[in-house]
Amino acid sequence: MAIQFVDTAKIYVKAGNGGNGAVAFHREKYVAAGGPDGGDGGKGGDVIFRGERNLSTLMDFRYKRKYVAQNGENGRGANQSGKAAENLIVKVPIGTVVKEANSGLVIADISQEGDYVIAKGGKGGLGNQHFATPTRQIPNFAKPGFKGEEFEVILELKLIADVGLIGFPNVGKSTLISTISSAKPKIANYHFTTLSPVLGVVRVDEEASFVAADIPGIIEGASEGVGLGHDFLRHVERCRLLLHVVDVSGSEYRDPIEDFKLINKELVSFSEELSKRPQIAVANKADIADREQIERFKEFCRQQGIQLFVISAATRQGLDGLVQTVYNELQKLPPVTIYQPEFVPASQAVDGNRFDIFRTDDGAFNIDAPWLVDILNTSNIDDYASLQYFQRRLRDSGIIDRLEEMGVKEGDTIRIEDFEFDYVN
Ligand code: GDP
Ligand code: MG
Repeated sequence: MAIQFVDTAKIYVKAGNGGNGAVAFHREKYVAAGGPDGGDGGKGGDVIFRGERNLSTLMDFRYKRKYVAQNGENGRGANQSGKAAENLIVKVPIGTVVKEANSGLVIADISQEGDYVIAKGGKGGLGNQHFATPTRQIPNFAKPGFKGEEFEVILELKLIADVGLIGFPNVGKSTLISTISSAKPKIANYHFTTLSPVLGVVRVDEEASFVAADIPGIIEGASEGVGLGHDFLRHVERCRLLLHVVDVSGSEYRDPIEDFKLINKELVSFSEELSKRPQIAVANKADIADREQIERFKEFCRQQGIQLFVISAATRQGLDGLVQTVYNELQKLPPVTIYQPEFVPASQAVDGNRFDIFRTDDGAFNIDAPWLVDILNTSNIDDYASLQYFQRRLRDSGIIDRLEEMGVKEGDTIRIEDFEFDYVN
């Protein structure tokens, strides 16, 4: 079981079309019509996703769903090429996996800072200057530009909680998360619904947000493996900061100071890792607490040297200050540890399984797929296991289906760059 907190969005991307080639002829005053001089069209802009470290959610993609790059300029007379369009840069958080929506195939795993071309702009068409031959002196045609790629993509971000909420049941953890966060991502593959963690994306301002998770089950005996799986623990251990929530009003006849100590004691056996994280104390339910109760807990935190916020999740009192402080503290803390196994290795995911097939004049089927060439180069075709793997990738990627749609027959030639073989059904 892999626990994944997933934030998703579906958007439409379209790269720019190439500009058209021009049909034009050289003209000069008092000179008869000259040769063809129609320039080429410019290339359409690519749609590029840029991995950004300081983004942590896909929230923006809920509001803007169409990303269209500009078309290339058309060519003009006097051999002037059209200008290439600028690429459209779309910022996405690192950790975003981009899949083509229909097939579900991975286009890119934005695992690092940097640019990933998602949809390629069309090439510009050639102007008529290229088409003059000894027998065709007046080419009155040019080529149109190629269309830019367009498709819908699904973005998936595996969220990593920056902040964990701990505390006794009913102190107001869930209420706090739901009031400070504006998005409630889906929680996938989590089997223990009764103890399901709540996760929220907390937006601080336009550019800043963090992810908070309710960590249930510390008291419920999770450290002994009841209910919560190891993977869950592993996930919450990535929290960089803990908010330790107490009910300062004692509305459930509990003592917040005793609770605070007890939770911290349990935390050590729940997770040694987690118990080492910095904590901020949160005295909740201040709206129904009296002054002495609050002062008593304040004094306790002072003695312990723990930073404290007195809030009410119900009336929103003190929440802005808490959120801002949490965000500021996070900026000072080292980034979360990344555990490799939960991530798709970039080597498998970059460029996904994209391919293009076209037939050449000799009837062969040419497969254009760089990732497939990599596989061929690194595998031994005489080796049964390698061959099996190769064939499986051909099938899983949809290449076999496409070949069949195109009418491939037993014995036809399949060409993948320098490799050539016969199609065997
Ligand atoms: P959790 O078990 O820690 O997640 O606690 P919940 O968020 O479920 O809250 C438990 C109860 O306390 C609910 O009835 C909430 O409405 C109530 N509660 C939470 N925060 C406050 C608060 O700030 N003031 C008051 N008066 N009640 C609160
Ligand atoms: Mg709760």
